[in-house]
Amino acid sequence: MRPSNTAIVVGAGIGGLTAAQALRRTGWRVTVYEQAHTIAPVGAGVGIAPNAVKALDHLGLGSALRDRGRRQEAMEIRLRNGRQVARVCASDIERRYGAPFYALHRAELHRLLLTGLDAATLRTGHRAERIVSEPWSATVVFRTADGTVSETADLVVAADGVGSALRTTLLPRYPGPAYAGYTVWRGIVPADRAAALRVPPVLAESWGRGARFGIAAINDGQVYWFACESVPEHTVPTHDLGLLATRFKRWHDPIPALLRATPEETLLRHDVYYLRARLPGFTHGRVVLLGDAAHAVTPDIGQGACLAIEDAVTLATGIENSGIDAGLRIYDALRRPRTERMARTSGRLGRIMQTANPVAALLRDNLAAAVPASLLIRGIGAAFAWQPPMPFTDHPPITTRE
Ligand SMILES: Cc1cc2nc3c(=O)[nH]c(=O)nc-3n(C[C@H](O)[C@H](O)[C@H](O)COP(=O)(O)OP(=O)(O)OC[C@H]3O[C@@H](n4cnc5c(N)ncnc54)[C@H](O)[C@@H]3O)c2cc1C
Repeated sequence: MRPSNTAIVVGAGIGGLTAAQALRRTGWRVTVYEQAHTIAPVGAGVGIAPNAVKALDHLGLGSALRDRGRRQEAMEIRLRNGRQVARVCASDIERRYGAPFYALHRAELHRLLLTGLDAATLRTGHRAERIVSEPWSATVVFRTADGTVSETADLVVAADGVGSALRTTLLPRYPGPAYAGYTVWRGIVPADRAAALRVPPVLAESWGRGARFGIAAINDGQVYWFACESVPEHTVPTHDLGLLATRFKRWHDPIPALLRATPEETLLRHDVYYLRARLPGFTHGRVVLLGDAAHAVTPDIGQGACLAIEDAVTLATGIENSGIDAGLRIYDALRRPRTERMARTSGRLGRIMQTANPVAALLRDNLAAAVPASLLIRGIGAAFAWQPPMPFTDHPPITTRE
């Protein structure tokens, strides 16, 4: 029997874990290295759009998603006074793009992506610091509590997020993440408090001036919300639910009630960063950048995690069908144009949705109200239209050298 190829995945986020799942399915021996000391339930909610649902189906994880995620019935845009300006039915999206929309707690998605990855596959407390790529392999140097260790594999997947240390090692002159101009709070209302609010399974976003509020009913009766506010970088205190409640107290129902029902310990706040400059390439020898490390987009079209999931499927399928080096070239050729396009769309929409200018905001609101739902579906459809490459086969693992 031929030995399996080996892969190191750096980062146990959505991108890294999906890459581990995808590579394992094509016979690779994968080890995931994560800087955190434990893989603990993290984050708030996440929307899984039809493109990522199709990718998870491709990995055989679709039924778990259907089981654990909350299927959404529609997408809605309202103004801060509650007036609905746009609504798209999920059934229309599903008919056109072949999969529904789900929302779930991030911890739930992580659990799903950890399925089948045993303790030997996951090494926590390993912070990647440097990487060296050779023609047939790559070596990562990790900092651990016991000092530094080096690990070598046929392939290294750098899925270490928007602030990727590995990207900096590979591309020291790349300018790094840029501030998107707004901060985001996120929270979870637990089921017992959410029940009385009767939030429907609709992805809803409400627009104000320089502020937005999003709501999604997620798994197990919980409700996820996010609030964006245009502010200078590093100017908002991290944990201040009272401050947030004051800012949104005149917004439509159930926004003030959701904020009142949110336990302080679920509150998160982050200034939003993205990669403004295009990367010259997503692959460097036997190292491949994946997810936010390669193409962090603003969260305005809710596609960052979905694109990372697509990346993982494209990478593993390309390698399975064409061999490692050709597979890496295919990955670069397919993923760069798509993610650059999504980044442009997300950035543009973000600037419009987040505008603080009263005239621009009025124009935006009127335009959203005037555009028919069918046009709105087509507008966001480029994201949803993605199709997974050819299905995985039952081929034996491919050889290390081509
Ligand atoms: C407010 C907000 C809402 C969003 N909503 C959505 C949504 O609804 N749908 C959607 O698709 N996307 C959404 N996104 C985007 C999405 O969260 C990200 O695109 C996605 O999480 C990126 O996954 P990743 O695995 O590439 O990176 P990350 O999730 O950042 O994971 C990186 C991992 O690498 C680890 N790591 C970092 N450095 C090192 C190192 N040196 N060594 C070892 N480990 C390291 C980190 O600890 C982490 O575990 C949202 C983003 C924001 C900010």
